Amino acid sequence: MKRIYETDSYIKELKTVVTASGTDDGGRHYIELDDTIFFPQEGGQNADTGELLLCGTDKRVLVLDGIISGRNKCSSSVHGGQGSSQAGTEGIRIRYIVSEPLPAGTEVVCKLDWGPRFDRMQNHTGEHILSGLMHKRFGVDNVGFHLSDNGPVTVDFNKQIRYEQVMEVQDEANRVIWANLPVKVSFPASEELKEIDYRSKIEIDGQVRLISIGEEAKIDICACCAPHVALTGETGLLKILSVVNWKGGIRVSMLCGRRALEYINREHDLISNLAKSMSTEAVNVPGIVDSYREEIINLKSELAGLKEKNLLEEACRERVIFTDDNIPAPVMKNIYNALTERYDGFVGIFAGNDESGYRYNAGSRDLDSRDLAAKLKDAFSARGGGSPEMIQGKVTAGKEDIYRLFAGMGEK
Ligand SMILES: [Zn+2]
Repeated sequence: MKRIYETDSYIKELKTVVTASGTDDGGRHYIELDDTIFFPQEGGQNADTGELLLCGTDKRVLVLDGIISGRNKCSSSVHGGQGSSQAGTEGIRIRYIVSEPLPAGTEVVCKLDWGPRFDRMQNHTGEHILSGLMHKRFGVDNVGFHLSDNGPVTVDFNKQIRYEQVMEVQDEANRVIWANLPVKVSFPASEELKEIDYRSKIEIDGQVRLISIGEEAKIDICACCAPHVALTGETGLLKILSVVNWKGGIRVSMLCGRRALEYINREHDLISNLAKSMSTEAVNVPGIVDSYREEIINLKSELAGLKEKNLLEEACRERVIFTDDNIPAPVMKNIYNALTERYDGFVGIFAGNDESGYRYNAGSRDLDSRDLAAKLKDAFSARGGGSPEMIQGKVTAGKEDIYRLFAGMGEK
């Protein structure tokens, strides 16, 4: 079987023959092909999809997935894996999951879903450019790579590099893209390979596939089995989205090509619509948000002052007061002090509601407040405690039941 995508990633159509077929353990129909242009799922990258046109008919069968077997253990990643369509690949098989059964011997024309494939080629090549430059500049290695079809591409590096430094590499990566440098595939003989200093170098049997970027591999050279673009310019654009600490190193999220443009369009629409709703230019949005924040803080403190004033007035009429949960602890304490100044016996302020419960400050200036804590605990399994002067805690009970408990203590 020739894996044509390894030598030419631009072949979108190929006539070939089904060499085997069957049903897997999950009940899915699968086939194997004589030669193939469909990259299987490998090392964090999804398989190509497409369709098979049955020769001499107008029937079409969908290719839904591709699963490779027979690689050695290092091919758990696309980088450093064994990858060649020539030598050392006996035993490697690819099963393609198809939409309906097809007998061996069927002649078919493979048609690749080019959109998703080219999108992965753009992002995958971008990852090589970024990893190559990071390696050259900081000596860090790419130790994890995930190219999901939704969401960002993530690349993990084994050393902590500051965000600003990664952003400098982003600039350099885009200069490499705009220089439209060649991305070449090679299959060096094992003797020659020993002399080459490439990323993801590991001892494996069989043929290694190298991807080099730039004349004389000046930008990068790395072992890899996936399809890439032929010129860096096709990557379009490389945008770093975030840099976070990750297992002692960093995880960089990025996007290239069409996906980078879509991301930037989304962000641009978001900020533009926000600016429009504020009747301003996008550049003014951060300043306006800051002024809103300040205004909210001022209004909140004004509201708290008014609330406290109301509650203090209520404290002149009621010894047990209920309010909503939006009241700071120091204000609760002030109200409690006002209540004890006005009344003998047990008093209390409860902030919250019947469903989620109430925070409370309660007690008495002439009786032992802890007796009240015991009563609240007995009646409602209330949490909390305190001193003879004041108790505080949390209780989940109905307002009326709490009133009744105070009345039962002869104070309401
Ligand atoms: Zn690669």
